Amino acid sequence: MQTQILGLLTPMMALLFAATFAVFWRAGRMKRHVLGFAISYVLFAVGFLITHLLPGDAFYLFHATQVLYSLGVTVFLASVCERAGQRLHLGSFAVVYVISALVLGLTVNLSDDVGPRLVIVNIGYGAMFAMGVTTLLTARRRNLIDVAIIAVMAFQAVDFFIRPTMTLLFERSIPAEAYRDSIYYSLIGLVLGVKSITTAMVLIAATITEWTTALRESSERDALSGLRNRGSFEETVRNLLPRAQTEGRALSLVVADIDHFKKVNDIWGHQAGDQAISGIGELIGKMVRGCDAAGRIGGEEFCIAVWNCENDPAHRLAERIRLAFASLRHSGLSDDIRLTASFGVATARDGETYEQLFARADAALYKAKSNGRNRVENAEERRVEEATPEPKSELTELKRAVTG
Ligand code: GH3
Ligand code: MG
Ligand code: MG
Repeated sequence: MQTQILGLLTPMMALLFAATFAVFWRAGRMKRHVLGFAISYVLFAVGFLITHLLPGDAFYLFHATQVLYSLGVTVFLASVCERAGQRLHLGSFAVVYVISALVLGLTVNLSDDVGPRLVIVNIGYGAMFAMGVTTLLTARRRNLIDVAIIAVMAFQAVDFFIRPTMTLLFERSIPAEAYRDSIYYSLIGLVLGVKSITTAMVLIAATITEWTTALRESSERDALSGLRNRGSFEETVRNLLPRAQTEGRALSLVVADIDHFKKVNDIWGHQAGDQAISGIGELIGKMVRGCDAAGRIGGEEFCIAVWNCENDPAHRLAERIRLAFASLRHSGLSDDIRLTASFGVATARDGETYEQLFARADAALYKAKSNGRNRVENAEERRVEEATPEPKSELTELKRAVTG
């Protein structure tokens, strides 16, 4: 009786983990690899339950459980690899499965001893886990959690390769009817329990980390432009400013504001205006580097903190964005209409706060507006004064459309 109850422990644990991953997946609207973890733990749990509850010497039992375990391992490893952005080569898995099944078919017919069968299936699982590990090793991204996952998978592979052979060297043979009383069976109960808990704990930690990262990122993002929201942008720049000073690097600020935006809303509607905001957001996102910070700081106002960048290259960046935006098509607007934006640039001075730096960049933007819009003005003295181009003809188009 005691053994019966203890034997239920592993399947119950697997079901508990399956439920945990299913809850993560639903409540956190997480990616499908988390659902994959839940499905594989259900398959393992059903396999463990069948092994434990049905008569041990039933021929079909062995095959049914192996199908469940093989499916479980495949879904599990495919999910772990998908999480790391890699694809598992399912064809190789099918080959391992077919070879194991064929060798198994021959062995089962030859003898009543379950030992060789166990070695064959375990080597099959070992090969599957080894393939999973090699796939994971090709992933570029690797943080502490990724390393822990690879370690746990490698431990699984080694266990599958070594444990059955070692046990059988000791136990010699296991007649089918004595399987449940074998050392092998007791040991596998313990090892499976430890492996399930360790693997599930690492994956639960990984899933919680992904969830919290996604929550933090979405709370820092502006949904319309895809850039940082004002709070996150300002916090980032407040951290970057002292860092730039201690590291002796330049930090420049580019502020942008779409021209005549109220009229865009008036003529083409708020939704078209939203599409234009999303267009410039995408453009800025593509034109800045990963080390820069870009945010939507107001309705149609944007700001970029250009890291390790002197005033001149920051001014040129603003020019490039200005030109790219002035030629951008907007799906909500008439085909021949192009929008423009005005820009202000400033570069941090010694001991300057974010507010002071922003005020200077904003004053430059104001100057760009009063000097005719669709231009970049600079808060700093520039050695090479670039000829400011005439406002583009597209702006004239917009003005014409706006006035009537
Ligand atoms: P200027 O060239 O001087 O900047 O003129 P402007 O019309 O763009 O003036 P201003 O920058 O003051 O106008 C901002 C307008 O942007 C006011 C508001 O109707 C609009 N706006 C603010 N937030 C949103 C938004 O989320 N979506 C849309 N569609 N419009 C917005
Ligand atoms: Mg504006
Ligand atoms: Mg504005």
